[in-house]
Amino acid sequence: MKRLVASLLLPMMLAFASCNSAPNMPANTSASRGQTEADAPASSSETTLTPQAADTYCTSRYWGNRTYECNASARTDVEIAGLMYKRAKVYFTNSSDYSTTVGATYIFGNYYITVYGGSTANAKTQIEKQVRAAGYQWVTPSGYVHAEQRLKDVQPYAVSIGISNPNGPCPSCIQNVVETQQTPISWYPGYYW
Ligand SMILES: [Zn+2]
Repeated sequence: MKRLVASLLLPMMLAFASCNSAPNMPANTSASRGQTEADAPASSSETTLTPQAADTYCTSRYWGNRTYECNASARTDVEIAGLMYKRAKVYFTNSSDYSTTVGATYIFGNYYITVYGGSTANAKTQIEKQVRAAGYQWVTPSGYVHAEQRLKDVQPYAVSIGISNPNGPCPSCIQNVVETQQTPISWYPGYYW
């Protein structure tokens, strides 16, 4: 299966790589949503997802206090969130910039991305720049609202949310987003982007 996906993606990705240095995931195809580092050509470094994360057990938390290994789309949500963090952190200037959490959800043909409302101004600015550069939709953070809650507030029909935080969702987001609103949240436990 992976080999089949790779054979389909490779020509497409090479075509992208030759004309576009920006993040290259066409968001509106089902094939691209399942893309992982393992499927990507080894030669394109910055345009691919992180290899360490691909070896980490991606976890999705569902309502009813259940956790599962991420399916392909949930995993891509996490990797998009993490990739935005990873690109932005090059421009972080203060240690507190690093504590921001990025959240991503795929709906209506694009990724919608935001950060924890209490993030530093620089963290917000740098993540927003990366989101816009990638062609994704930036959701303006609000107050001290957590990223996954903010996405659910703005996109009530979001069915799955990925976050960059290695500790996963906090108890409040588990209660409100996962349990009450029945929207799974996914993350790479222990992985620092
Ligand atoms: Zn939270």
